[in-house]
Amino acid sequence: MSEREYDVIVIGAGTVGENVADRAKQGGMDTVIVEAELVGGECSYWACMPSKGLLRSAAALRAARDLDGAKQAITGDLDVAGVLRRRDRIAHDWNDDSQVRWLEQTGIDLVRGHAEFTGVKRVRVTAEDGTVTDLVARHAVAVSTGSAALLPDIPGLREIEPWTSRDATSAHVIPASLAILGGGVVGAEMATAYAGFGTKVTLIVRSTLLDHLEPFAGEMVEAALTKLGVTVRTGVEVTEAHRTDKNAVLTLSDGGRVVAEEVLVAIGRTPRTTDLGLERIGFQPGAWLAVDDTLLVKGTDWLYAVGDVNHRALLTHQGKYQARAAGDVIAARAKGLPVDDAPWGAHVATADHDHVPQVTFTDPEVASVGLTEAAAREAGRSIRVLDYDLSWIGGATTYADHYEGMARAIVDEDRGVLIGATFVGPDVAELLHSATVAIVGEVSIDRLWHAVPSYPTVSEVWLRWLEAYGRPPL
Ligand SMILES: Cc1cc2nc3c(=O)[nH]c(=O)nc-3n(C[C@H](O)[C@H](O)[C@H](O)COP(=O)(O)OP(=O)(O)OC[C@H]3O[C@@H](n4cnc5c(N)ncnc54)[C@H](O)[C@@H]3O)c2cc1C
Repeated sequence: MSEREYDVIVIGAGTVGENVADRAKQGGMDTVIVEAELVGGECSYWACMPSKGLLRSAAALRAARDLDGAKQAITGDLDVAGVLRRRDRIAHDWNDDSQVRWLEQTGIDLVRGHAEFTGVKRVRVTAEDGTVTDLVARHAVAVSTGSAALLPDIPGLREIEPWTSRDATSAHVIPASLAILGGGVVGAEMATAYAGFGTKVTLIVRSTLLDHLEPFAGEMVEAALTKLGVTVRTGVEVTEAHRTDKNAVLTLSDGGRVVAEEVLVAIGRTPRTTDLGLERIGFQPGAWLAVDDTLLVKGTDWLYAVGDVNHRALLTHQGKYQARAAGDVIAARAKGLPVDDAPWGAHVATADHDHVPQVTFTDPEVASVGLTEAAAREAGRSIRVLDYDLSWIGGATTYADHYEGMARAIVDEDRGVLIGATFVGPDVAELLHSATVAIVGEVSIDRLWHAVPSYPTVSEVWLRWLEAYGRPPL
């Protein structure tokens, strides 16, 4: 057994942990990172990257099929083997050499193995071969252990060995049929991907599809999935599951049955904190770790929780944003500097509250930021809702032959600024950052008239929103 001392210990080398470590290191902190699986974590190998890799080729093919002149050049179908090859490349064949090299170049030490707390600022790492390393932090420990797929307690479900998102994003054999439980982002994206491969997909949704977004988003995605051949069953739950020789059989709350070769459970996430020794430092194993805007775990002055594990916004970009804040804050506090509004630039993670951007990579895509109409009304804001059909825009006419899209802006009437925006349509992901900048920057509606969108682009929706809102009096 060996013992080593560092300024900062980061547990979990997912995208978020890497960024905490990087920022702390840049702040002059001697930093070590611990990883039990692959450096790069869920996003690189089993989530964002491979899932988008699975979606892109079929989306490109569908887009080309909607363009006279291009569609005539398409003589075959999607090459699924080619898609899987491309996905494997995007996931670096589940090899983390390049990420490890980056850690080495950055001067961050890596200890491979499973980490658990043995006490305050004390972490024990057990490697696969049983080697034990004890780490001691002079200043802080940051937990970035992420989240795992949540399996509900449905009779028989565990016994049928359902897929989780990890299986769906790394599969090398495409099932003939797939039942998906869950109508959130993962369920909707994987339904789109597997329908593109020719799999017979049934999507089972307890309420409505994408119910955390504007209602028209879920409705448009549901219509598109149905067109792709997906059976979408909303308002039902699975009550029992079992397997026959070849298939899984799911019983639904409305008495119906779904039979499929594989079952993907995508109903939510659970924190990876069950085997972290949290009980030794006064926390509940298996719980999310609640933090303040500096990512400090409430009730401590040394423990930080960053990324999925704090349950603020389970998205890579938001986790990386938190990571930059946490790394800065840890370095600042170690030097006795203030963190709020510090002139030297440390930031805290305030954008997690009302400014979170998110793209759902279905076809059509959904890109949203800030508050939905329902959330704004619930928060008691005085708002005006601006809706615009994107197919009426000149840029949409040149983009596709049958463009379907919709955009909604939420204006805070008291302050004359945007507080929410949602776009649904082909490739609208790239429209999103303009809305994020306008919302976070609190650009006034009057000022937005001077941000002129290029013609002919779908960004002209900004002009249409302003026209719908009404020109300021001369
Ligand atoms: C299918 C799917 C698609 C997604 N697509 C997107 C997307 O397009 N865009 C987006 O922004 N977000 C997406 N997400 C969410 C995104 O993947 C997560 O928000 C992100 O991975 C969280 O990063 P993290 O670093 O907090 O956790 P993780 O990436 O999970 O990293 C945690 C790391 O900690 C390690 N670890 C855990 N416990 C221990 C321990 N005790 N000791 C040592 N190491 C440990 C793990 O091995 C892991 O490497 C998607 C999620 C899923 C499931």
